[in-house]
Amino acid sequence: MDEPGYFQQGDLVSVLTTQPLDRPLDYLAPEGGCFAGAFVEAPLGPRKVLGVVWGPGRGDFDRSKIRSLNRVLDVAPMREEMRSFLIRAADYTLTPLPAMLRLATRAPGLGDPPSMRKIYRLGGAEPDRMTEARARVLAVLRDYGGLAFTLRELAEMAGVTSSVVKGLVKQCAVREEDSPRDLPFPHLDPDLPGKPLTADQAQAADSLRAGLRSGGYGTTLLKGVTGAGKTEVYLEAVAEALRMGRQALVLLPEIALTAEFLTRVEARLGARPAEWHSGATMTERRRIWRMVGQGEAQLVVGARSALFLPFRDLGLIIVDEEHDTSYKQEDGVLYNARDMAVLRASICGARVVLASATPSLESWANAEAGKYLRLELSARFGAATLPEMRAIDMRAEALTPGIWISPTLRAAVADRLTRGEQSLLFINRRGYAPVTLCRACGQQIGCDHCDARMVEHRFLKRLMCHQCGETKPIPDTCPHCGVEGKLAPVGPGIERLAEEAAATFPEARLAVLSSDLFGSARALKERIEQIAAGEADIVIGTQLVAKGHNFPQLTLVGVIDADLGLQGSDLRAAERTFQLMRQVAGRAGRAEKPGQALLQTHQPEHPVIRAILGGEEEGFWRAEAAERQAAGVPPYGRMAGIVLSGPEAGPVFDLGNKLARNDAALRQIGAQVFGPAPAPIARIRGRHRVRLLVKAPKGAALQEAIARWIAPVRLKGDLRLSVDIDPQSF
Ligand code: ADP
Ligand code: ZN
Repeated sequence: MDEPGYFQQGDLVSVLTTQPLDRPLDYLAPEGGCFAGAFVEAPLGPRKVLGVVWGPGRGDFDRSKIRSLNRVLDVAPMREEMRSFLIRAADYTLTPLPAMLRLATRAPGLGDPPSMRKIYRLGGAEPDRMTEARARVLAVLRDYGGLAFTLRELAEMAGVTSSVVKGLVKQCAVREEDSPRDLPFPHLDPDLPGKPLTADQAQAADSLRAGLRSGGYGTTLLKGVTGAGKTEVYLEAVAEALRMGRQALVLLPEIALTAEFLTRVEARLGARPAEWHSGATMTERRRIWRMVGQGEAQLVVGARSALFLPFRDLGLIIVDEEHDTSYKQEDGVLYNARDMAVLRASICGARVVLASATPSLESWANAEAGKYLRLELSARFGAATLPEMRAIDMRAEALTPGIWISPTLRAAVADRLTRGEQSLLFINRRGYAPVTLCRACGQQIGCDHCDARMVEHRFLKRLMCHQCGETKPIPDTCPHCGVEGKLAPVGPGIERLAEEAAATFPEARLAVLSSDLFGSARALKERIEQIAAGEADIVIGTQLVAKGHNFPQLTLVGVIDADLGLQGSDLRAAERTFQLMRQVAGRAGRAEKPGQALLQTHQPEHPVIRAILGGEEEGFWRAEAAERQAAGVPPYGRMAGIVLSGPEAGPVFDLGNKLARNDAALRQIGAQVFGPAPAPIARIRGRHRVRLLVKAPKGAALQEAIARWIAPVRLKGDLRLSVDIDPQSF
């Protein structure tokens, strides 16, 4: 057989595994041969590991020591374009290829032979002897109400060995069944009638459809105020992709993955799409992974990791709320899903739609430069109008110490209450108070492991570190001076604001939305749906509420501290504040009733606050762009962060200094290195962190230079180095 990419039994092949090795390993093709891209089980030492046939073997090993692959797994081989994507993404993010492959093989049980696909669910009987381990297994099954799991999943989730599960099977407390074949997803019908579009919307939809039909890669920035109907428009593009027999992917920030969104998809396409998110069960993930690979899931709606699913023919990627910072994965492989979406599309010949009311400066600049097409929806749909935006000058308000809602804002909320409309009070701070101060010695309570304050969480009755998650009881005595009863909360957090609102508006129904207050994403989603249905008068929220939710009864947004994001030296602070404030304000007046947004500020003449109020968007972007250009930073220059960490500060700084001195590789491309300086968070979980920032001219081969620069580094002891291309803060 001389089919391209086919290897006969015994041929030398190179296999990329998910193990942290420098390069693919050579093996002999197994019985029956294999194609390039095949998922295989490879022997490695005493273990069996998952791998992908990457190409012909290199043959630079002693052939007699080369082992044969165990078997080819029963899933579709990895497509050539997926392999290219992983290679290019690894090169871009300076991530080892095996770590990249791990992102693409997040289908649990991928390596299980069909005979092992037994599933386990509640059996009904009580075991004759209840141990703690057994109780944990049953609790998991009960918690997931009726769902079934594989043996490995169930044992892992309950933290027991598989023999515990088997024991419960014997006692009929757990039932063992053959796993059903993966259920196909219901067929989506692009030809169902959509909503009649406005002229603006129809024009945008036409343009997206034309792009799809022209074939090949292209990215469009779809800009439009919240409520303009961007979703309606891009769903038309999704329909067109499906009509062409291609697959589509809609990426959303995790929190925007709500039932409301799926219902809208269902209304347009007649059925629910595949939904990929961190809360999905492993069984469901496995099903999606396989169905996507077979081309039988036409549309996936998912969080950023959905980008690594093995689509058979991906024609369209939507990145909704493209400016959202949660698209950047901040641990493990550091990648920005928005940028990786563009990369993936350019490799597989797909179209990308970046949708936002407040695009990132990167995307705005790409549109300006003509790299992206730009479509704009200028008005809100129907009778909905943009909220009136006003500042409340806190310097002129009669303020009471410890009270954060100004008289003007209080009157506005009271007015909404009498009219039966909803208000949103926004504060971007979790917990009760950001600082716990000792009135005797003036010291604050900090985290023992991080360079961060402990934040009081009154609902949890604990202090919490927002960096490492460590909590401890709220002490009675000051840990610094030992004086009792003098610790006091300083400044507002969402819980404190909720307390104030309850006291100020005793008759109102409050809904407090902060990630700490919900045990699960599901509980949070339910609460959001209740609010949308009008089951609250005042919503009190952190930036959780800023994203994409639709609350038709909401007509007032009050921002407690609009200045919060403007402090600090981060060059992106203005952009972030502008985006956040416009997004939050956009929650008001999304239906027929007009909305109003009131921003409490101490500096109403600050240029960013003025830009937010004035709605002079283009002017704001242009001014921002000019500043970034002058500073030579993204999107007009390139940046990378190198974070070094270790248990002792000394060696970490030493390594940083050594790197900073030996910067020849960087100078060759005209790049500069800054630092080492303490990282934005200088200590996390007891590890000292130091950052070097590299700034390079726009066209420079930054990754190559960094790779050469850090190549000689040998990390001793517990030192670690990670590279962050395009860091979020600089
Ligand atoms: P965006 O995504 O820009 O924030 P949406 O697509 O969510 O805006 O639209 C805002 C609201 O207006 C939604 O409730 C949506 O169903 C409605 N809407 C938008 N366009 C239309 C249309 N052409 N016909 C009917 N309703 C529409
Ligand atoms: Zn901590």
